[in-house]
Amino acid sequence: MLHSILILGGTAEARKLAERLAGDPRFITTLSLAGRTRAPAEQPVPVRVGGFGGAAGLAAYIREKGVTILIDATHPYAAQISRNAAEAAGLANVPLIALRRPAWTREAGNRWIEVDSITGAVKALGETPRKVFLTLGRQELLPFEAAPQHRYLIRSVDPVEPPLDVPHAIYLTSRGPFAKASEAQLLAEHGIELIVAKNSGGPSSYGKIAAARQLGVEVIMVRRPVLPDVPSVEAIEDMLAWLDHAPAPLK
Ligand code: NAP
Repeated sequence: MLHSILILGGTAEARKLAERLAGDPRFITTLSLAGRTRAPAEQPVPVRVGGFGGAAGLAAYIREKGVTILIDATHPYAAQISRNAAEAAGLANVPLIALRRPAWTREAGNRWIEVDSITGAVKALGETPRKVFLTLGRQELLPFEAAPQHRYLIRSVDPVEPPLDVPHAIYLTSRGPFAKASEAQLLAEHGIELIVAKNSGGPSSYGKIAAARQLGVEVIMVRRPVLPDVPSVEAIEDMLAWLDHAPAPLK
């Protein structure tokens, strides 16, 4: 019997995993996106977009579509959907496996200040006006209005609309991956003193961290949220190996 796989995605890894599963005759694969970006990257398998309506809604979707394996390949900061996935897998009685990229670890020369939240990051900027590069999701920018004394460089996939209510902000729209050399150039060009980032892990957004180390720029790193304790792998190859031995679907 075929497996019907639902990948909860929104990450480069989810897309790469879908690419590997697309032509596999053992699986019918669907990718689910939250719908956060206006023009999401092209995907190699059929896509559904938007929330399910909590864990119960996701469980109902799993039952209705006959999903037999749930893969949580969401962003490490998307904790709510990961909690929903854990609960829904239990409710619908399907196996769940998470694809979780390891966090970046501090290396010699890194100047990191770790904080627990975005509000913590705003506080860590301090009172003195600084030149700050914000590499956060659009939805996470509002708290920086409480610190209008800084000059902000803000990069996001889609435009920040409306713009922040601060006197000095430059907006860039672009989608990664970002290489170390171009990130170093950007930091130098704007005289950046501090970066606010999430510990996303993986190579595609590491360029800014490597560039910051090279230039001695400080990074205020927002710690990862706690995710549910479910079976997980770190690499696509390990996920494929797990799928090779996946339990037969329940009738
Ligand atoms: P979240 O707080 O975990 O999820 C909020 C709600 O969005 C979920 O309860 C669910 O709605 C819906 N949702 C999230 N991912 C979904 C998916 N793959 N398919 C269908 N519905 C999904 O996540 P978030 O609000 O998207 O983001 C939180 C953090 O993750 C931010 O830091 C953001 O920058 C980062 N991030 C997210 C994504 C992404 O694709 N989601 C990508 C990159 C970075 P229902 O409860 O209605 O099902």
